[in-house]
Amino acid sequence: MCGIVGYVGYRKAYPIVLKGLKRLEYRGYDSAGIALLNGKINLYKKQGKVAELEDFIIGKNVEGTTAIGHTRWATHGEPNDRNAHPHLSQSGELAMIHNGIIENYASLKEDLLKKNYAFKSDTDTEVLLNFIEDIYKNNGSNLEEALRIALKRVVGAYCILLIENKNPDTIIAARKGSPLVIGIGKNEHFLASDASPIVEYTKEVVYVNDYEIAIVRPDELTLKNLGNEKQTPFITKLDMELDAIEKSGFEHFMLKEIFEQPKTIFDCLRGRLNAEKGNINLSGIDKYLDAICHAPRIIIIACGTSWHAGLTAEYIIEETCRIPVEVEYASEFRYRNPIINKGDMIIAISQSGETADTIVAIEKAKEQGAIILGVVNVVGSSIARISHTGVYTHSGPEIGVASTKAFTGQLAALMMIAFKIAHYKNTISEERFLHLCNELAEVPEKVEKILQQNEIIKNIAASLKTSDDALFLGRGYNFPIALEGALKLKEISYIHAEGYPAAEMKHGPIALVDEHLPVIFIATKDVYHEKIVSNMQEIKARKGKVIAVMNEDDNITPTLADAVIKIPEADEIIAPVLNVVPLQLLSYHIGIARGCNVDMPRNLAKSVTVE
Ligand code: GLU
Repeated sequence: MCGIVGYVGYRKAYPIVLKGLKRLEYRGYDSAGIALLNGKINLYKKQGKVAELEDFIIGKNVEGTTAIGHTRWATHGEPNDRNAHPHLSQSGELAMIHNGIIENYASLKEDLLKKNYAFKSDTDTEVLLNFIEDIYKNNGSNLEEALRIALKRVVGAYCILLIENKNPDTIIAARKGSPLVIGIGKNEHFLASDASPIVEYTKEVVYVNDYEIAIVRPDELTLKNLGNEKQTPFITKLDMELDAIEKSGFEHFMLKEIFEQPKTIFDCLRGRLNAEKGNINLSGIDKYLDAICHAPRIIIIACGTSWHAGLTAEYIIEETCRIPVEVEYASEFRYRNPIINKGDMIIAISQSGETADTIVAIEKAKEQGAIILGVVNVVGSSIARISHTGVYTHSGPEIGVASTKAFTGQLAALMMIAFKIAHYKNTISEERFLHLCNELAEVPEKVEKILQQNEIIKNIAASLKTSDDALFLGRGYNFPIALEGALKLKEISYIHAEGYPAAEMKHGPIALVDEHLPVIFIATKDVYHEKIVSNMQEIKARKGKVIAVMNEDDNITPTLADAVIKIPEADEIIAPVLNVVPLQLLSYHIGIARGCNVDMPRNLAKSVTVE
């Protein structure tokens, strides 16, 4: 959450920072702002989207080759002009942007108020900035030293960029818990929350670590720890192309990303799954295979959509590997006193690899001796780095705030992990293993077929757009998909939706059913099929509107459904990765029909770096 961008070099900084903010807008869109250094700090900030900031700046002075910019997801203080970043220090000499939360801001503020500091905003950020300034004025010989002293007293998470009038060609940055990437150019440097604002200019980047301070000048990058010791910057090559972060002719990123899935799932399987030879090659986890096979328990930790991928994996791993699995919300896990036994295995799932709660949960489990396997999308992200081993999903940058292709990538990766363990452990027969490998290899082609029903799904969406509520029902492997379908609809269309195991409906939710309530059944063929057909009958008998996601050759379901979406036949273990695709499209089209901003849904932001 919150996107931060900075530039120091020889070019005009404004267009670079503005473009960077547009790329990072998925991380927050409550307000945006830019501080440019041109003789002195020029500050422009505005509530709303980056486009509104751009309009506001037209005709103003945007000279200068050093600038910082921010797009905000508010935590402390309403989204308005006043609380927008960058903030200016009391003296006006310093400007700062921040991603994260300063937890002890209240006590720091109390001290500063006693020293006659006045605050123009309600943010924790302005408190930290004035705290730095106060140290700078009283006992810091330079800004870098003042920052170092201040950060030792800060509790919370931050990535900050600081500039000062006195040093117009320098940005000072620091991070703990929130991401920071620095792009290295010739006589220029680019700073950002992720690589998307940088990739256009350079592919050489440094991922700054927690508790590091970066002093960035056009021709110089110095990294230090909080003990003032120099650190060697570890330069890596970005594996990202520009068109991956552009809409490429689609109206929205969400639609583009839904339609990318045949390719992104293929990319996840590529070079790993060899269905013909019956081989799954996940070199990262080879070293840990024995440990995983002997793990008394697997604990899956995730949040949001990733948690739904985890829940699907619970069904798959228990069935194929016969290892007990628990699925935990990272935010709950980290604050209770979880029992972790020696040899337990943690699978941490996160698209961004920066999810704050998941990071802390992992650290906690690691301290207690668990082995951590990360399933993440963003290469080089914090979770990827702190895990013992992992499997990247290779879904490419996901810009739409509602996760789509990252979810199917997670499912594909988790399926490969499960099948590999089951094969190694001999808990499935060779024949079943080969069958599952073949079924998994066919997923990209089957997703392509599902996407061809886009118009049918759009028509169904038109008939649902005025609904106030919706119910998603599934059983077994498809229960987590019902949850995911409901979450997607909530996020994108603001329709209240709930997902339930179909049989649970009789224990409460059926009371909601009347002729106005759409009930979406995920009812592809599996061992429960006859039972879910009975559940459909029960809804029909109460005049509910039934929409069925079903297999192509199912003749019974259409007689009970008001609308159907057809899914190619697949093994029941593989089916979830197919069944979620029409639900993503359904949410997208309902959101569009209701006039919602599907790429930037209300109150949400991507990459949840705050707890
Ligand atoms: N806490 C800061 C604010 O509310 C930054 C928020 C964030 O990074 O999400 O302005």
